[in-house]
Parts: sequence; C-alpha cells; structure tokens
Amino acid sequence: MARTEQKSAINMPFHVMLIPTLGCPGKCNYCWSSDEKSPVMSIETIKEVVEWLKDFREDSVTFTFHGGEPLLAGADFYREALPILNEGVKPKKVAFAIQTNLWKMTDEIAEIFAEYNIPIGSSLDGPKELNDFQRGEGYFENTMRGYRIAKEHGLSVRFITTFTSHSEKFRENIFHFYLENGWTLKFHPALPSLRGDEPEKWALDPEEYGKLLIYLLDKYLENMDQIEVMNIDHLCKGVFGGRGAVCTFVDCMGDVLAVGPDGSIYPCYRFVGMPEYVMGNVYDHPGIEDLAKSDAWKLMFDYKEYVDQNCKDCTHIKYCRGGCPYNAITPTNGEIKGVDPHCISYKMIFDEITKRVNEEMFGGSGLEMGFFQDPMKPSKPGIMSLMFK
Ligand code: SF4
Ligand code: SF4
Repeated sequence: MARTEQKSAINMPFHVMLIPTLGCPGKCNYCWSSDEKSPVMSIETIKEVVEWLKDFREDSVTFTFHGGEPLLAGADFYREALPILNEGVKPKKVAFAIQTNLWKMTDEIAEIFAEYNIPIGSSLDGPKELNDFQRGEGYFENTMRGYRIAKEHGLSVRFITTFTSHSEKFRENIFHFYLENGWTLKFHPALPSLRGDEPEKWALDPEEYGKLLIYLLDKYLENMDQIEVMNIDHLCKGVFGGRGAVCTFVDCMGDVLAVGPDGSIYPCYRFVGMPEYVMGNVYDHPGIEDLAKSDAWKLMFDYKEYVDQNCKDCTHIKYCRGGCPYNAITPTNGEIKGVDPHCISYKMIFDEITKRVNEEMFGGSGLEMGFFQDPMKPSKPGIMSLMFK
C-alpha cells in the first residue's frame, strides 16, 4: 500500500497546529523557548493556509494555536486570522483551540476568542512556589492574571502540569492543589530538553512516570466525584475501546500537521523550528502526495511500520501504537532505534488498568461494579466506575 493511502488507527479529526511564533516571554527551566522577538506569522501566511487546505482533505479540521507563545501575535492577528480560517475552508467544519501561558491575555483578545468559543489550554506546574521554581519567578502571577481575564469573558481554561524529576516528589501537593481549586488535571512528563545545556536534569524517568500514573489512578478513584484527571480517563478509555484516545496512542502521522511562522509544514508542533523535519510550505499548496515525498513524512511512516513489527507481541499495541514518534525519533537524531522511551511507563499503567478491570469483572477484588463481586467485601470505586462517570 502506498504511504499516502495508509489510514490512521483512529478516525480522529484532521488537526492543523498553527505556530504564530517560536518566541516566548517565559523562561521555563526545561523548555527550549526562544527570544520574545522571534518572527511572527503574517496574515498572508494564514491566507495561504486556507488556499493550501482547500483541496487538501475533505474532512473537518481543528486548528490549534501553539508556540512558542501564540498570544505574542497580538489581538490584530487573531481578529484577522480567525474569520479567514473559519470562512475560508468551508464547507469543512472548523474548530479552534489554543495552548498559551496566558501572560499576554487582554480583554480585547478574550473578546475575540469568546466569539469563536475557543477553549484554552494553559501550563501550570502546581502551587505558586513549586510552579515558579520550575517555570521562573513571576510565572504563576502572570498566568493567573490572564486566567482571570479569560474567565471574565466566559472562556474555558484547562491547565496542563509538567511533572519533572523535581515536582514528581510533590505529587500529593500538586494533586490536592488541583482538587482544592476544582480544576481538571491534565499532565505530561518533562522530556529531555534537546536544546538545553543539561538535557536530562528535569526529565522524568520513565519508571518514575509509570509509578506516578498508577498513583494518580488511585487518587482519581478515591476522589472521582470531585475531580477529573484527563490522562487517566484517556488511558482507561483506550484500554476499553481498544484504540487510543489522544494523539500519543494513535498513528498521528498524516492526521496531525503543523505550520511554522514562515509557512513551513511539519509533522507536529514539536518539530517546528527543526529544518530537517520540514515537509513543504503552505505557499506551494502541496497535496498529500507532495508531502509524502519529504524525508520527514517517510520517517514518520517508517516509525509506524517499525511499531507494527517491534510492538506486535505487546498486548497493548492497539491502544498504544508505540507512543509518540517525536519522543522516539528526535533523541536519536532522526534515526529509528526504538519506540517512545515511555514504553516502560505505558506498560506499567496499561498492565495495571487491565489487571484491575479483570479483577473487577471476574472477582477477587471486592471493587464496586464487579459483575461477580462478593457482596460481603467492602466496595470502593473501581475503573468500571470511571467508564460510567
Ligand atoms: S508527534 Fe507526538 S505529540 Fe505530535 S501529534 Fe504525534 S503523538 Fe502527538
Ligand atoms: S507499551 Fe511499549 S511495546 Fe507495547 S505497544 Fe506501547 S510502546 Fe510498544
């Protein structure tokens, strides 16, 4: 089968990430952010995105603004860009989202976002002291100021916590911080920075990440009526449904694309700014067949084939799919030498979920929702309860 005919394992919507700039005013310790004055995408490039997508695919598209820090593009950029994107790719259905630290949020920007009902994902690593230790003095207050403006305009904001080798030790504080604030918890592990002086310093060891996932599964089950832990929901749904619920656990290649500030097209926002992963440029209006000729496209699909071979005996392959290709490929300079290093963590949590579901369904644990539960044993919420939440 030709690479361009391969279908992803999940019928997920087509996703185009727009990176208006790689600049960021933050100075997070484990990030690779660049100068605040880094070039910003022009409206001309947005118009070319629309032209490019007109004949690219038939299905609906989600545009996510990512960075760098996308709010550096300013209110005028969004005032012009959003209607162009919204109207330009019709009759396709269009949805928007943004990932921002919220520092540059203003009433003006919030009003524009409210018009398009744009959900916001923002980064916060826990309570102020812990957050600012990792992300720099003043980060917490800057983000909270933007958060308040967003909420005043009725916008939905969800925070994403990066667990590092440092903050993992404070997992209980972080969980309770989210619980007390009534916020949904979404998180990811710090990866070895490819651009810092000490790449491993903040990275979360895969085994520690696996233990953290199991810890958060337990905490979620204890408090499920008061908090939502998105990652755990996604992991459980993956096991139940037999296919991944987020990009990490599906074949993202071809269904996710990113456009950098100059119109270059990449496989995902994580590759933006790395010239070796450029697959084309929106100004050339490349079709899928054109992108498929690029080295980066081929590498992504080679990774898919590698996973098919190397993970074929793993019981979790259907809802794991080898994890994130970026995590697997970039630390080895674009050579495929293994799957996502978090394979260890994924196996730990998938094994745990599977074991508990089996116990709940076939007895032995006394957990609520067990089909063959012993009525004499005390019951507490189990994974099946999460599925019916
Ligand atoms: S490369 Fe990784 S982060 Fe990017 S879309 Fe694929 S799985 Fe998601
Ligand atoms: S858990 Fe590891 S071996 Fe199994 S599918 Fe995922 S990456 Fe492959």
